Amino acid sequence: MVRVLFLGGLGRSGTTLLERLLGQLPGITPLGEVVHLWQRDLRDDERCGCGDRFSACGFWQKVGVEAFGGWDAVDPQRVLDLADKVERTRFIPRLAFGRRPAGVEEYAAHYAKIYNGAATVTGASVVVDSSKHSALAYCLRHAEIDLRVVHVVRDSRGVAYSWTKKVTRPETEKNEQMTQYSPSKSALLWNAHNASFGLLGRLGVPLLRVRYEELLADPKATLRTMIRFAGLPDAEQDGQELSFLRATDEGYVADLGPAHSAAGNPMRFTIGTVPLRRDEAWRRSLPKGQRRLVGALTAPLLSAYGYPLLGGTT
Ligand SMILES: [Zn+2]
Repeated sequence: MVRVLFLGGLGRSGTTLLERLLGQLPGITPLGEVVHLWQRDLRDDERCGCGDRFSACGFWQKVGVEAFGGWDAVDPQRVLDLADKVERTRFIPRLAFGRRPAGVEEYAAHYAKIYNGAATVTGASVVVDSSKHSALAYCLRHAEIDLRVVHVVRDSRGVAYSWTKKVTRPETEKNEQMTQYSPSKSALLWNAHNASFGLLGRLGVPLLRVRYEELLADPKATLRTMIRFAGLPDAEQDGQELSFLRATDEGYVADLGPAHSAAGNPMRFTIGTVPLRRDEAWRRSLPKGQRRLVGALTAPLLSAYGYPLLGGTT
C-alpha cells in the first residue's frame, strides 16, 4: 500500500512551506493540493509547480497513464459531483460516526490511484498531498492507502490576518485573486478544521500535530520528527538529507528545487534560496479589536495548542 502523508489544517497555516521542505527529502514525492486537480488541472489546464501547463508536464502525464491509463479516461465532472456528495465539512459528523455516504469509496479510490501512480513513477516511499481539507482526510480513511496525517496548526490570529490579505493566483490567465475571509469567519473555520483533525486522530488515524511557529523556529528538529512519523530512515545519524537547510546569522534558509505541485499557494512556484522566517505581521497589522475577537472565538483550542491568549504589540 502506498504511504501518504496528508498535510491538513486551515489554509494559511504553512502547509505549502512544509510541503516544499518535505519535497527536498529523498524518498518523498510532493504532489501539491490534489483536491484541486480535477477542476484546476484536468479542466482548466493551470500550471504545475514546475511551470508547465498540467497537460504539458511530463511528470503528471506519466502519473495519468500509470493511474488511469491516461487522463482521458477520467471524467472530472464525475469526481466533482462525488465531492459534492461526500467531501464537505458539514458531512464530517456523518463521515466520523454515521453510515458511510454512498460514493465515498469511489471518490477516495481516485486519489489512491493518483498516489499509487506517483509512487510508481518516482519510486518514492512516501507521497505528500497538501490538500488541507479535513473532509477529504475523512474520505481517505476509505481508500486503500497507508494514510498518515500531519495536522499543521498556526496561531489563529496570524491565520486570520493572512486571510484578509489580497493574494494573486499567478497560475491563472486573468490573475485571479485567492479567497479572502473576514477575521470572524476565519476564526470559525479555524475552530472547525482544527477540531475535525483532533477528532480524526481520536478515531485512530495516525496523526502528528506540527505548529507552524515551531517548524520555523527549528526546521531541522521538526523535519526529523516528520521523517520518523513517515516511516523513513532516521536522519539523526548523518544530516545529509537536511543539508538543504542552512543556518545563517538571521536564521535558517532553505534551498528549494522545483516540484510538480498540482495546485496550491503561489509559494509552490518558488525556487532557490528562501529565508525561513515566521510571518508575525499580524501582531502589528491586525487591528486590536479584530485580534481580540479572533483570540476570544478561538480561545479553547489556542490554549490547548499552547498559544498565549494575549498576542500582539499593543
Ligand atoms: Zn510539473
